[in-house]
Amino acid sequence: MTKGLDTKVIKNIENQLIAEKVRITADLANLSHKDPHEADNMTTKFPEYGNKADENAQEISDYSANVVTEGLLEKSLNDINKALERVKTHDYGICKYCGNPIAEKRLIARPTANSCINCKKELQNNE
Ligand SMILES: [Zn+2]
Repeated sequence: MTKGLDTKVIKNIENQLIAEKVRITADLANLSHKDPHEADNMTTKFPEYGNKADENAQEISDYSANVVTEGLLEKSLNDINKALERVKTHDYGICKYCGNPIAEKRLIARPTANSCINCKKELQNNE
């Protein structure tokens, strides 16, 4: 059983994570296309505006921006999947560093958090 958190609170957070996952997956689908030969490899779409020099420059700058956005989205998606996995294994809401429950307020503000505020602070101080 998960310590500290109410099952209702976890259910709400889980629903929030699932909704976020759906949204990010849709955003990623707009930015990239799956390579049919490599199941897990997402490739950023290269935009096609035209063949003029300024159009080419715009294509390259938008492509670079898309690569950055895609990287961030993939990272978020990864965090969400890990959080959903922790819900399933009843580890959700437990700090992975000290094993204490993470404050409910922190989890509501940041559902993918896997460390308590104290450990988070320590980590930042050590950086
Ligand atoms: Zn901790």
